[in-house]
Amino acid sequence: MKQAVFFNTLNGHSFLYSPFRNQVLLCHPVISRLHDLEVSGINLSEFIQTSKNDGNPVIFENFQVSHAELVVHWKKYRFLKQHDFFKVPRQVNLNGRLQPSRVETDLTRVQQVIFETTEECNLSCTYCTYSKFYINQERGKKKFSIAAAKRALDHLMSVRDKASTHLIVSFYGGEPFRNFAFIRDVVAYLKESYGDRQTFKFNLTTNGLLLSKHTDYLVANDFDVSVSLDGDETGNSFRILKGELPTHAIVLRHLDLLRERYPDYFERNISFLAVLHNRNSYQEVVDYFKKRFGKTPLTSMISTTNINEVHKKEFSTTFLSGMRNTFHHKKDMLGLFMEHPTVKELANTLEKYTGIIFKNHFQIMSRINGNEVSRAFVPTATCLPFSLRVYLTADGSVLPCEHISRDFKLGNLHNREVHLDSRSIADLFNRNFDKIRSLCERCYLADNCKECVFNTRTDLENPVCDFFMDEQHFRELLEKMFNLVENDYTLYSKLLKEAFHAN
Ligand code: SF4
Ligand code: SF4
Repeated sequence: MKQAVFFNTLNGHSFLYSPFRNQVLLCHPVISRLHDLEVSGINLSEFIQTSKNDGNPVIFENFQVSHAELVVHWKKYRFLKQHDFFKVPRQVNLNGRLQPSRVETDLTRVQQVIFETTEECNLSCTYCTYSKFYINQERGKKKFSIAAAKRALDHLMSVRDKASTHLIVSFYGGEPFRNFAFIRDVVAYLKESYGDRQTFKFNLTTNGLLLSKHTDYLVANDFDVSVSLDGDETGNSFRILKGELPTHAIVLRHLDLLRERYPDYFERNISFLAVLHNRNSYQEVVDYFKKRFGKTPLTSMISTTNINEVHKKEFSTTFLSGMRNTFHHKKDMLGLFMEHPTVKELANTLEKYTGIIFKNHFQIMSRINGNEVSRAFVPTATCLPFSLRVYLTADGSVLPCEHISRDFKLGNLHNREVHLDSRSIADLFNRNFDKIRSLCERCYLADNCKECVFNTRTDLENPVCDFFMDEQHFRELLEKMFNLVENDYTLYSKLLKEAFHAN
């Protein structure tokens, strides 16, 4: 149950967040004390009367108020109560179920097919999810066969909704260029067999070591290419060849060559993915790519899920200790703006919780409050199977996406018959939703969750989500965001003008 939350900023301002009104107000600290007293069973009328009889100021922990001031605040408190600021909202309804019919419909409209082109990789990154630090099985050497891919694609096309005429086709690895023939054959097959009724966008994610060899092909087919590179030479030093040889200079050589030969293509189609750890920092990585290539990379933290217990300590000292990631540089937040994670978090907080952002006039007039009976949602923010993408692995598994464990396999595509059973897929999702539901119901982010159920620990007797937010953590989030607003008015004003008013 969400309760009203009082919070303070470093500048000494006190605020009240009302979950029922979904609104934040500047609020004198005496109101919070009066609320605490009432919740603890004190009769406030008697308390006010006693203060009058005493004739002395009333002392709260770190401040005191006269009887007259107390009466003014008591009136404000009653006003807020009358207007539901302390009312507990209805619990968000997380009893939604995924229906097999929804799975079937979404398969007919899937927007992206991702192939695990090959399990092989020509790098031995220290932090690879197939290294000793993770509990995944060892990396194999299987390659996706063109025959299997044709069967999968034919199946998707045979059930495809007529209105869905665009498909994104992605080649992931291992290192996709280690099975380049497959990429070439899939692209040719799709264009020849389905080019009359579908348009295609091709993309791939690569470590860049074989880039030059295939540049002409990529340009000819307008591939979008994401290159994994963790910044400068030191930042990139976990991305190594067998024998611990560095790769930074090699990748740069390929990129420079590509840029020299096809500057427009480089500008338009090349992007970067960087993993953050203790040998780089968000700021260093962003600065490096801006200066070297004029681009902003996508960043993600080194994965800390599925760590092998035996190597947990070593994982921590190798990749985490001495991390220098700070996300609060004013200059960089203004510069990167909505690409900066903290600015995104601030925009989300302002929009979802403060009651000052309305997307249109209708929203102002029909403000939702905590009495609303919400329709039934499924817990978490997991994308439903095939609603966006499907990931096909080299060993024949069908997965919701490339980011999650193979334990959550949806079906099999390598048999003669394509095997996808919508009922068992719906059951798999619903089983995991059932396990996490009670935790989500207690979480302050339940109606604004951004997490995937497959990245929580639903295998434990008491499931765990690293992002679970209780009242105290939610208070800390609000404090952090409001400190930012108070200390950086330029950023706040830019957000209001450009992120919200512009839309
Ligand atoms: S991690 Fe979960 S929510 Fe994210 S794309 Fe994969 S299935 Fe969807
Ligand atoms: S953050 Fe985690 S606990 Fe909270 S609603 Fe999302 S999945 Fe559930």
